Amino acid sequence: MIDLSSDTVTKPVAAMREAMLQAEVGDEQRGEDPSVNKLLARCCELLGKEAALFLPSGTMCNVVALRAWTRPGDTMLCDPMAHVLRVEGGNPALNSGLLVEVIDRDAAPRGVFEVDALLAALGRTRAAPPVYRSPATLLSLENTHNFGGGTVWPLQQFNAVSEAARAEGLAVHLDGARLFNAAVALDLPVALLAAHADSVWVDFTKGLGAPLGAVLAGSADFIERARRYKHALGGAMRQAGICAAGCDWALMHHVQRLRDDHARAQRLSQALQAIDGVRLVHPVQTNLVFFDPSGAGWSAASLAGALSDAGVRVSVVAGVLRAVTHLDAGDHEIDRAIEVMRELLSSDRRL
Ligand SMILES: *Cc1c(COP(=O)(O)O)cnc(C)c1O
Repeated sequence: MIDLSSDTVTKPVAAMREAMLQAEVGDEQRGEDPSVNKLLARCCELLGKEAALFLPSGTMCNVVALRAWTRPGDTMLCDPMAHVLRVEGGNPALNSGLLVEVIDRDAAPRGVFEVDALLAALGRTRAAPPVYRSPATLLSLENTHNFGGGTVWPLQQFNAVSEAARAEGLAVHLDGARLFNAAVALDLPVALLAAHADSVWVDFTKGLGAPLGAVLAGSADFIERARRYKHALGGAMRQAGICAAGCDWALMHHVQRLRDDHARAQRLSQALQAIDGVRLVHPVQTNLVFFDPSGAGWSAASLAGALSDAGVRVSVVAGVLRAVTHLDAGDHEIDRAIEVMRELLSSDRRL
């Protein structure tokens, strides 16, 4: 099976497993795991932040960050397709008691928007006199934007939106599940992409290919508050250095190679565009390829099923298909996937 359903399906490579096997470990909950501490120091440096926290998943980074920035009854702003809003089990409401005000859908077609759209959404939260309102205290942004098509925030635009939010008294949180993809696509240091965010996290289990782990970073004061929620949620660990060593190895060996994933996504998207009736849903900027086969007479679900029978797995997201390039899908696998897609889409087996 050529699995293009997500970049989370990657398996740790032998050298990463070896680094994990050799890791020095201690009690992470007490701050005594040397491998975790080494990873956190490297992440502070890379992300340009004062302090950092090791967490089991990116979702838990969003959970503790939202909780640390807000109080129950506050309003959080985000775009309408944000991961934190759509696929985290109601995280803002469930874990932090938040209301969510979304940016206008038309103003954020790829998850990226302008200052005007932010101010319009903020204005809606402030329509009533102060005593009647839920105070807007947090803006959550995503780079790259997943359901927006792996879209990269242009740096100036990101900074302008962040600064406008800060000027209005909001904290800015950056969901950086694929921040390294954005940095590689822009050819800029990752710290520059996070400089105007108050908190940021990166995932090691997407394109970087580690088995688990994410790091949340920000000011020392923010991380101290976040640590309490991590602990209360059961996210404090023991000999977590085994995992942190895999993440650290990924930082040293799997960042620059994201360029290969991006090049393969380009190749895949060009091949798809050349097939009659197939529409690219978003321009491809990184490693996510969203496409709509309905013009070729296939529903997304039926094509996903037929592709799977032919040995190529993609996922169905919001009624279209998503193919993701990653570490475990090389040129040969992408060529084969293109061949299978061409064959099926030009066949008469339409449903
Ligand atoms: C995958 C993802 C998450 C969640 O990360 P996990 O490590 O899978 O919990 C959050 N936000 C975005 C944009 C993602 O793509």
